[in-house]
Amino acid sequence: MIDFKALSNKYGTPLYVYDFNKISEQYDALKKAFSGRKSLISYAVKANSNLSVISHLAKLGSGADCVSIGEVKRALLAGIPKYKIIFSGVGKRDDEIEEALKEDILLLNLESEAEMERVEMIAAKLGKEARISIRVNPNIDPKTHPYISTGLHENKFGVDLETAKRMYVKAHNSNHLDPVGIHFHIGSQLTELDPIKEAAGIVADLVRSLKAIKIDIKFFDVGGGLGIVYDDETTIEPYDYAQAIFSTLYGLDLTIICEPGRFMVGNSGYFLSKVLYEKVNEGKRFVIVDGAMNDLLRPSLYNAYHKVEVVGKEGNESEADIVGPVCESGDFFAKSRMLPPTEHNDLVVVYSAGAYGFVMASNYNTRPRPAEVAILDGKDHCIRQRETFEDLIKLETMCL
Ligand SMILES: *Cc1c(COP(=O)(O)O)cnc(C)c1O
Repeated sequence: MIDFKALSNKYGTPLYVYDFNKISEQYDALKKAFSGRKSLISYAVKANSNLSVISHLAKLGSGADCVSIGEVKRALLAGIPKYKIIFSGVGKRDDEIEEALKEDILLLNLESEAEMERVEMIAAKLGKEARISIRVNPNIDPKTHPYISTGLHENKFGVDLETAKRMYVKAHNSNHLDPVGIHFHIGSQLTELDPIKEAAGIVADLVRSLKAIKIDIKFFDVGGGLGIVYDDETTIEPYDYAQAIFSTLYGLDLTIICEPGRFMVGNSGYFLSKVLYEKVNEGKRFVIVDGAMNDLLRPSLYNAYHKVEVVGKEGNESEADIVGPVCESGDFFAKSRMLPPTEHNDLVVVYSAGAYGFVMASNYNTRPRPAEVAILDGKDHCIRQRETFEDLIKLETMCL
């Protein structure tokens, strides 16, 4: 049990708390599920890119899936070996491509023909052969929130099967491209296995047809997207997930890469804020806390559900919204929840805040971003200090 009250007294609020032992459990469960074949778990750094989180995963043996050169640098700094780092994303700049090639990471994951041309040019300029994979869009509906669904042709991600095949042939014939991998990622917070299995099957067929023309793919990257429990979802068991993927790979000797973000860190994170006031408007009850949408955006952005709890209070519950002080009606953490009466300084815990929490925080309303604390083997460690007002203005000048 984490002592949220003690942590909030020690570090102040709003505050992020991460249970690192829980992160280890998630990593181990997934790695074990894939143990029947060669595999690399490449943590999707964008879910929570705190250096201590990455370095904790590095020690467990994790690789990193990055979507900017900044994330690649974080992964390297945190001790992830370069041969376990992947660079994905639909819009890489020339300087990002160049730096990734110079760092000699495992591979660049490409999402368009135009991007492949740039990578080839830059590799040629550097006198290198770029290891690449191509993100295939298998046109599968993952049955998740439209903002986090990525595997349909209407999305901006990846290329269709025909284009992919053409790109592989081109890359295979280039002196500066080495097509070693294939990739798909159909969406996030996936709770159904069938779409994943279907997508893997389509991509595995493409690998077989490439093999027939002597293009030998080594890495089969199944993306991330494993869902977690926020409310009462039935999630996919790691074992079933791995078996479903294995079942599509008959006759192929591939290293499976899996890029979980949310699964690895989501349920290990808690967001703490303190009650400032309660008020009732025309019979509607609001609990106003000191955390806000700038600290944790998921409820506002995706209308996402998070479990909430008022620490140490129960009974006499009535319906209320938990809202923050930011000047937007969309600034809420929970709507129409049964909550006990609260008082000034009561502590509210928002659960499952470890993924896409702090990383999406902003300084909107000139609010400093929260501190982050890690709990490992029962001990707490500050892994990011709370920002100060001076931090917020230090890059600005009044020159006019
Ligand atoms: C976002 C993303 C992931 C991680 O998604 P989760 O839902 O957090 O597991 C993995 N791979 C790619 C390419 C992504 O864009």
